[in-house]
Amino acid sequence: MARYTGPSCRLCRREGMKLFLKGTKCYTPKCPVDKRAFPPGQHGQLRVRLSDYGIQLREKQKVKRMYGVLERQFRRYFGIAQKSRGVTGQQLLTMLESRLDNVLYRAGFARSRAASRQLVRHRAIAVNGQVVDIPSYLVRGSDVVQVVPSRARAATQVKAALDQLKDRPVPPWLQVDAGQLKAVVQRSPQKDDIGLPIQEQLVVELYSK
Ligand code: ZN
Repeated sequence: MARYTGPSCRLCRREGMKLFLKGTKCYTPKCPVDKRAFPPGQHGQLRVRLSDYGIQLREKQKVKRMYGVLERQFRRYFGIAQKSRGVTGQQLLTMLESRLDNVLYRAGFARSRAASRQLVRHRAIAVNGQVVDIPSYLVRGSDVVQVVPSRARAATQVKAALDQLKDRPVPPWLQVDAGQLKAVVQRSPQKDDIGLPIQEQLVVELYSK
């Protein structure tokens, strides 16, 4: 399982918006997206007009980075979305949003998807009573996601995160029981549930070339 390990707020600059990849960093002035509001790298300050391809590419990269998915897996999701019934772009978002690492993040169990991934990899999370250590595991309606009770340190971490994030709304497709460190998936997430500025159509156009 590969993942991006470089400087995360560099990606904020590339995409021109805060991506909240690293827990709280984007909430602080340390995220350079306002201070240096141009893409990173030697040519970041050159003025370039993006082509249609460029616009589609940036949108695809942005979505990938938000969810912490690399190209190969993202492409695979796209392939599955294309074959499924329904609108390809929306199916793609539903799949990304159903990933176990995202579910934990949305439920407020961790401050970032990267942190929830760590919880999963450390075998601290069970789905329907079985430990699942694969962050890309896709949840389905009525799945019960819970911190493994014997994992005391993870439980402490999750409690702290839930406490810190308690004012952040939980999406309607998840029902969180903060006392039991448990989240129940009510239904599969839809595009309207996401509330992020994503133009998934651009991703579809890019891959349909
Ligand atoms: Zn940032």
